[in-house]
Amino acid sequence: MKNIIVAEDQGFCWGVRRALDIVNEHEEVNIFGDLIHNKQVVRELEQKGKTIIHEITGQEENPIVITAHGTLVENFEKLDQLKLNIVDTTCPLVSTIYRAGIGLEKEGYKIVILGDKQHIEVKGIASRMKDPIIINSEAELDQTDLPEKIGIICQSTFSQRRFDELVALIHQRCPDVKVKNTICSPTKKRQIAAEKLAKQVDIMIVVGGFHSSNTKKLVELTRNYVDSHHIETADQLKPEWFKGKTEVGITSGASTADSIVEEICQEIRRFE
Ligand code: SF4
Repeated sequence: MKNIIVAEDQGFCWGVRRALDIVNEHEEVNIFGDLIHNKQVVRELEQKGKTIIHEITGQEENPIVITAHGTLVENFEKLDQLKLNIVDTTCPLVSTIYRAGIGLEKEGYKIVILGDKQHIEVKGIASRMKDPIIINSEAELDQTDLPEKIGIICQSTFSQRRFDELVALIHQRCPDVKVKNTICSPTKKRQIAAEKLAKQVDIMIVVGGFHSSNTKKLVELTRNYVDSHHIETADQLKPEWFKGKTEVGITSGASTADSIVEEICQEIRRFE
């Protein structure tokens, strides 16, 4: 019999719940991009009549939803020009990052965003700054020329560990560095809980979208301690992972519904 322990902090974060509540207040909307990085939840929304769109054509009759991790300033301008109704679910904790960056720029700092330049949240942050530098790894930092006066902010779901490492390296290179740690508190709590759990179990299962930034960070973090597998749904579990293992830890990303985690626990209970 497996002993399954679910992390103290995991699953839907406050910002995702808020975004879903706002969207569900509207009958018919066009969601611009994935509201959250969870295919199952997005599919449920589609079944309720919400439409996912990946570009704005101007032909849309229903309001356009901006997702929890925000979007580029240019997209808001385009929507205004087209006179389309906007339902903005940008998480207030993402707006805090915009304000932190703008504040640092006003103090004369060149902005460095720690994060994934392909992610919509980072694109949205960058669009509000003056030609920021975006760095996601030590390798990228090595290829970047930094000015002397740097203001650092980061993606809300960035890894605390990688943040500390990159900030330390930037300090070695630049004489004037001001740092605003903009990892959101739900992400920090999930990382702390996942790390604590990974230290006490034989195997970790991390549940969440394969494209979800915060889920990938949990996988990366827990692999420092134990065998850790990233899955989206219960049918991706493999019985052989659990051979000889009794203590099973489960955590999940900020876009994962409790029902998916519960299904996974039930499936694991069936393994010997
Ligand atoms: S992960 Fe953080 S910033 Fe993103 S939606 Fe959740 S609470 Fe907001």
